[in-house]
Amino acid sequence: MVNRLANKVAAITGAAGGIGLETTILFVRENASVLMLDISEPALEKALSKVYELCPEAKTSKQFIKTMKCDVSKEADIKNCIESLDLAGGIDIMFNNAGIMHSEDDDAISTSEKIWDLTQAINVKGVWFGCKHAVLSMRRHKKTKGSIINTASMVALVGAATPQLAYTASKGAVLALTRELAMVHARENIRFNSLCPGPLNTPMLQDWLGDDVQKRYRREVHFPMGRFGEAIEQANAVVFLASDESSFVNAADFVVDGGMTKAYVTAE
Ligand code: NAD
Repeated sequence: MVNRLANKVAAITGAAGGIGLETTILFVRENASVLMLDISEPALEKALSKVYELCPEAKTSKQFIKTMKCDVSKEADIKNCIESLDLAGGIDIMFNNAGIMHSEDDDAISTSEKIWDLTQAINVKGVWFGCKHAVLSMRRHKKTKGSIINTASMVALVGAATPQLAYTASKGAVLALTRELAMVHARENIRFNSLCPGPLNTPMLQDWLGDDVQKRYRREVHFPMGRFGEAIEQANAVVFLASDESSFVNAADFVVDGGMTKAYVTAE
């Protein structure tokens, strides 16, 4: 399918990484204009080349693809990036997707305050800033169909005895703030939904697991479908949530996890 996002302007944070980059590619294929935001400029450059390689037609179409360096934990960065879209008529879709899972994040005893604060600053405050400036842009431009999607995680819904307490708490906060904003802005027709991915085959998790067989086994035994998810499987869900096809989907914890949060005993 194409054109599901025609004439829409989107911003994606964490756009140089797994889910963000796959979502950028699908948004471009569906004819949206996309502002790719990430903290890493070299990664953004590489990501943009990949988008053009896979979507060469975007070079000559009227849609635009732009990149901007943005640290989502800094409000001035987000504000500046979103306001740069005023020239393009403002934003229709905001995908607040950037997040970190720090290797020193652990249980209540071992996690340092520094790691806790860093995780909340990016994963929670960054989502708040993204929501705030997207709403302001949608209001400035009198948008009547806004869609804001915030990446949470399956770990916001189920407990794990392999703790990453700061990360889990941050994703629970994303679910709660998204639900509340969905109620606040529903009559303006700005929809808010959370994406809750299961464990994925992206560098964020795979680099962390490395070749530690025991660490992997502790997780893989719980996968109903017997595999990690792929970033594109999340991106497909995001396209739906971003498009007018999901016009009555609001305040959802949109779970894309291969059934993991519904599992008791998985097949052998
Ligand atoms: P990734 O590490 O591949 O991509 C994350 C991107 O965010 C990177 O490009 C990174 O540079 C960027 N980023 C980090 N800090 C930033 C900041 N301060 N400002 C702007 N950009 C910043 O990870 P991914 O797997 O694509 O994860 C994307 C989202 O999905 C994250 O919010 C993550 O928590 C969530 N998630 C991932 C998994 C998984 O298994 N990978 C599972 C559930 C949820």
